[in-house]
Amino acid sequence: MSLQDITTRIASAEAKAGRDPGSVKLIAVSKVQPNERVQAVLEQGHRCFGENRVQEAAGKWPMFKEQFEGIDLHLIGPLQTNKARQAMELCNAIHSVDRPKLAKTLARLAQEIGSCPALFIQVNTGEEEQKAGILPLEADSFVAECRALDLPIQGLMCIPPIEEEPALHFALLAKIAKRNGLTGLSMGMSGDFEQAIALGATHIRVGSAIFGERVKPQG
Ligand SMILES: *Cc1c(COP(=O)(O)O)cnc(C)c1O
Repeated sequence: MSLQDITTRIASAEAKAGRDPGSVKLIAVSKVQPNERVQAVLEQGHRCFGENRVQEAAGKWPMFKEQFEGIDLHLIGPLQTNKARQAMELCNAIHSVDRPKLAKTLARLAQEIGSCPALFIQVNTGEEEQKAGILPLEADSFVAECRALDLPIQGLMCIPPIEEEPALHFALLAKIAKRNGLTGLSMGMSGDFEQAIALGATHIRVGSAIFGERVKPQG
């Protein structure tokens, strides 16, 4: 697959769902990809990228930002509080706000820095023990807590369990967002982004379908 193939598939999924053209933002997930592949996608004009580790993002994006204008960088992986400042300075959006301690740290740093990236609350829709995210039953109160801290919450994010039907999780995430008055939905990856678009995704996170299989496994 190429970037062009993916954007064509996004456009037809938008049309099929009766959604406005361009209403879905494609986050090209560049984690663990060789820089040549990332550079090639930048040269095709794409500017929105996702990384799941702050350290890895800090290792490559300052360099790309010098070469290319208008880069829109999204952190999609777990964030430790001691890396929060670096993440906020480097990224335009953070999709992994998943606990009160992190929310409080982000709020304090936003005051200090004077700005804050767009934020998404990660919901553990599958209630998986090993997965990050706020539990569905705690989501409403966590949204309220983040709002009380004046955090710019744009929407919700989920990563469905591998073995389950993703549509059920996308529908649940959309329902929680709706009842909380949130419009952003970060959901859908290489294997299921068309389903996510049908269920209202505003941000899809697509890695291997654009760049090819990741060359090293994620540790
Ligand atoms: C790696 C990753 C993706 C992209 O996965 P693909 O299957 O390669 O599209 C999306 N979201 C998150 C949170 C990821 O870590």
